[in-house]
Amino acid sequence: MSENKINRRDICKTFLALGGLAIGGLTAKGQTSTPTPTPAPVTDVLQDQRIADAVKRGATMEEISKLRDPIANNPEEALRALKTGNARFFGGQARRPEVSAAERRAQILGQTPFAVILACSDSRVPTEIVFDQSLGSLFITRVAGNVVEMGTTGSIEYAVNHLKTHLIVVLGHEGCGAIKAALLPAEERARETPSIQALLNQIVPSVSRIPKIRDEKAKLREAVVANVRQQVANIKKEPAIQKAIASNKINVVGAFYEITSGAVDFFETDEDLRIAQTAYDSCDWRSHLA
Ligand SMILES: [Zn+2]
Repeated sequence: MSENKINRRDICKTFLALGGLAIGGLTAKGQTSTPTPTPAPVTDVLQDQRIADAVKRGATMEEISKLRDPIANNPEEALRALKTGNARFFGGQARRPEVSAAERRAQILGQTPFAVILACSDSRVPTEIVFDQSLGSLFITRVAGNVVEMGTTGSIEYAVNHLKTHLIVVLGHEGCGAIKAALLPAEERARETPSIQALLNQIVPSVSRIPKIRDEKAKLREAVVANVRQQVANIKKEPAIQKAIASNKINVVGAFYEITSGAVDFFETDEDLRIAQTAYDSCDWRSHLA
């Protein structure tokens, strides 16, 4: 079964679980309905109230910083939080969570992001917005083509070793210009600056293994996913990351953000993340055309 089907179903389940979501749908009489805002979970409301009360009674920054429960305590909860946040976003029900001025001030004491995201620099992929997360929730490193190199590896390892991060996500996206450039013939890539060429060289090996696909959109999606799989494998090779995986502190997954729908598909299983060794071996591209 394709990762597309698995994750769409998963997202739909999550989406339905949020309850009361009507996205410009049609009523029984065929009239367009107005989206029904999803109320914030009771736990969030109670926490907001608790923090407001603490501010009123003059609590210290230390006290305020301890009043909000962690969003996730393990890799499974972290992944769930990203999926539900993205479902709110693509369903037009984003809460765009903000924190009060008192909580924002208290954040100077430290940070506890529950996930680290390696994403592309593309302006259409603003990570906190896509996952509907607030200040201090995500540790993000962005570079064109979401490649693992010294800077991004160091950032990811910092989050894993020093912060309470439970999940690493490599996030590729629809219409990625860096991946498109990596698919160009070598002579065309050679016209770019040395720095751009160095970046593209990190992407070329994985995208050169995809099979010949005539449809340009399908070809680019396959190349983006191939690069995500390769970068996930690259992260997993790092000893610090291997250690954290072995102790069940973190998990590493891949993901694909579809600009047109706003939905993120996650690649979680070994099969989802398996790297094709040859173009022929990569024949699961058909699953992306469904
Ligand atoms: Zn991109």
